Amino acid sequence: MDLNKCAKCGKLFASTEDLCKNCLSKDLQDLATVRNFILDNPEITELDKIIHKTNVSQKDILRYISKGRLDDIKHLGKYFKCIYCNQPIIKGKYCDDCMDKFAKIKNQLLDGEKI
Ligand SMILES: [Zn+2]
Ligand SMILES: [Zn+2]
Repeated sequence: MDLNKCAKCGKLFASTEDLCKNCLSKDLQDLATVRNFILDNPEITELDKIIHKTNVSQKDILRYISKGRLDDIKHLGKYFKCIYCNQPIIKGKYCDDCMDKFAKIKNQLLDGEKI
């Protein structure tokens, strides 16, 4: 049987799940808390405030987001910011604008090398 590390408490357990039995129900509860809070408070966009108000750890909230557990919440894009220009994005590190810019700069550099 596969040993897995619980994504919440870090305990090793035999299962293919992300969470151990002890954490499973608490995790669903936390997910519901975070989901309800985000839906009830769309004006709150800082992850820090959500963590503070819901008492759910940043690690857990980021896990919900990365697992797509909060995908249906339309304004979720606010929680990721392009690390270059700070524009809200849905996933990854850079917004499409910056990706375009980087691609152009890269092309210019490559062209420059040829001259
Ligand atoms: Zn656990
Ligand atoms: Zn950007």
